[in-house]
Amino acid sequence: MNDNNAGSTGDTDLELLVVGSANADLVVGVERRPAPGETVLGSDLAVHPGGKGGNQAVAAARLGARTALLARVGDDAHGTLLLDAQRAAGVDTAGVLVGGAPTGVALITVDPSGDNSIVVSPGANARLSPEDIRASSGLLAAARVVSSQLEIPLDTVAEVVRTLRPGTRFVLNPSPPAPLPTEVLAACDPLVVNEHEARVILGEDAGDAPEEWARGLLALGPRSVVITLGSAGALTADGSDAVRVPSPKVDAVDTTGAGDAFTAALGWRLGLGEDLATAAAYAVRVGAAAVTRKGAQGSYPTASELAEAAP
Ligand code: ATP
Repeated sequence: MNDNNAGSTGDTDLELLVVGSANADLVVGVERRPAPGETVLGSDLAVHPGGKGGNQAVAAARLGARTALLARVGDDAHGTLLLDAQRAAGVDTAGVLVGGAPTGVALITVDPSGDNSIVVSPGANARLSPEDIRASSGLLAAARVVSSQLEIPLDTVAEVVRTLRPGTRFVLNPSPPAPLPTEVLAACDPLVVNEHEARVILGEDAGDAPEEWARGLLALGPRSVVITLGSAGALTADGSDAVRVPSPKVDAVDTTGAGDAFTAALGWRLGLGEDLATAAAYAVRVGAAAVTRKGAQGSYPTASELAEAAP
């Protein structure tokens, strides 16, 4: 596979390394979404940088975290757009591999009521391989916290876990949800899920209360669990206690990417030495601030915007 590197800044003390996906979100507004076989005319195309990995890295860097991204994009215009967005936010892109397949894209049509239809072409994200992780072991060794999601192959996430230096904290948001191998679950500190992901992972016996979900998830082996609860904030659990962390009240405009901002902020603060509930109290403010503006990466606050939006 072609492994051109995206550029090097040579960090040695990374506060957060995000290993994950980068997508170009191609969005067209339509009067109604097309039926099978039908063609409809839509608005001008809008292209936004996205993907859970890219979102997390931008969210952390905008808050001031020393952040790097390990991802794969295509050697194409979308890849350039995504790399530019990362660098503009202050993310170290030395670990981003270029080539092997087209950049991942999400093809999104949105109707006036806000309902959407989405097709994702994972492209280069699906080619981020275990071998790529082994070849990036120096980057992994430099990070205090490594954060992943499941928009890259599960084998690749498992290799991340195997490559972690002792003492490096691993945060996983299993999105989209999938059955997780024991070795991956055991490394999560925390496993970060929303209600939907908790229910999919736990299955029919999930129960109704977040405290029950947390107990069920902890029984699967992670060292700690955080459940995000939208406007209700989050719940943290690390074996002894489950703690409810309320979110600031804000006027929500668009929740896209709020979970990614939350998870990035949480991982960064844990790496600074905060305990789980304290880090979650910071992360709910970041998530709340992100929902006050439209979009994903474009909605993420800087540290000073955070102080104003969600004090
Ligand atoms: P998404 O998929 O939209 O990115 P998610 O479903 O993964 O999000 P949520 O639980 O909806 O995750 O939101 C993550 C965090 O964002 C919450 O813990 C909370 O801090 C904040 N948040 C989300 N929605 C609201 C809201 N309406 N008001 C205040 N805070 C919110």
